[in-house]
Amino acid sequence: MHKNFNNIDKVCYGPGSFAQLGDIIAPKRTENDKFFVFVVDAYFKGKPLADQIPLQDGDLLEFIDVDPKEPTTAQIDELRDRILANHGLPAGLVGIGGGSIMDIAKAAALMFTTEGPSENYQGLNLIKKPGIYHCGVPTISGTGAECSMTAVLTGPVKKLGLKCEWTVFNQVILDPTLTASVPKNQWFYTGMDTFIHCIESETGIFYNTFSRAYGEQSLKLCKEIFLGEGSGQTPENDEKLMVASLFGGLSLTYSEVGVCHALSYGLSMVLEYKHGYANCIAFNHLEDYYGSAVNDFKEMVAFHNIDLPQNLSANWSEETITAMAEVAYALPHMWTHALGYDWQEKITLEDIKDLYRRL
Ligand code: NAD
Ligand code: ZN
Repeated sequence: MHKNFNNIDKVCYGPGSFAQLGDIIAPKRTENDKFFVFVVDAYFKGKPLADQIPLQDGDLLEFIDVDPKEPTTAQIDELRDRILANHGLPAGLVGIGGGSIMDIAKAAALMFTTEGPSENYQGLNLIKKPGIYHCGVPTISGTGAECSMTAVLTGPVKKLGLKCEWTVFNQVILDPTLTASVPKNQWFYTGMDTFIHCIESETGIFYNTFSRAYGEQSLKLCKEIFLGEGSGQTPENDEKLMVASLFGGLSLTYSEVGVCHALSYGLSMVLEYKHGYANCIAFNHLEDYYGSAVNDFKEMVAFHNIDLPQNLSANWSEETITAMAEVAYALPHMWTHALGYDWQEKITLEDIKDLYRRL
């Protein structure tokens, strides 16, 4: 079966494009109870960007602290229930922040029109109707959450996305100047999410020409941004990384992620490591699967002097390792992509535990 997915309805790209947000959402303001919700990373509280948000009477501004935890189903339910009870149904929702805020915006937009706890909808096509209009404005590049059809949430039992055709943003505004303030380690961890998406996408059975066209371009940009001369956090590289993130996301949407993401999900679910950081911790030890890309990765870590702890597993109990391996093992689509349909004959739960012991 070939994938048949929605794409973002509209993309506005360019340094300074955030200034157009007010005009872009203006035609949507007549919908539902005629107010907008702006969900913004708490980092921007008191920063100049907060004053540029096109707030009108009746609009709501919600600053959300995305550290240290990834977005939860309980968080989405609380936001929806409180706003519906006190203000009604918003005309639309704008998320301004990183992958965490993108996911909160996408999930909340869906849950405003779907009843019950969001944990009931973690999975594929469990949501049966469109949500409200939603617009994403990334302020850090790498996750591809700006274009993906999933809103990843941690629920009481699993870390899994609300994945359906209406998850995808109606609009994104890609303004690379918004990412200038990202701290270096974070810039690297989240940026590496794109690099790893491209590598995993191309290393598996679901790879195809469509994924390749986006993935190759994204990878080329990643190498310019992170490897050797001219690399680093510059305005020019911020532009490149914003586009690389989008293309990396599109590459993996039409292919799949693999071993690194499976291990990363275990680290996030059990130890609450953030996605990009967890990917870096895992990818560093996956030479057997991703060969020279892991050498490139190590070179990038060294070149940019990135903090990447070693021997973490020395402090993990057997119980922790088993719990993480069970999370990873329960992601068959990733293992199938990486190892083939007979993956269960190639890797066991014990082998996955050994992979965690390398970290
Ligand atoms: P994030 O949104 O969690 O933010 C990381 C840190 O960067 C936070 O401290 C934040 O405050 C800070 N930050 C963001 N923008 C900043 C700026 N301009 N200046 C200074 N600080 C800034 O990070 P992320 O790596 O973008 O997102 C991780 C989340 O994305 C995870 O929850 C993961 O599950 C999710 N994710 C989703 C998808 C998807 O397809 N939906 C894909 C990958 C990851
Ligand atoms: Zn990822």
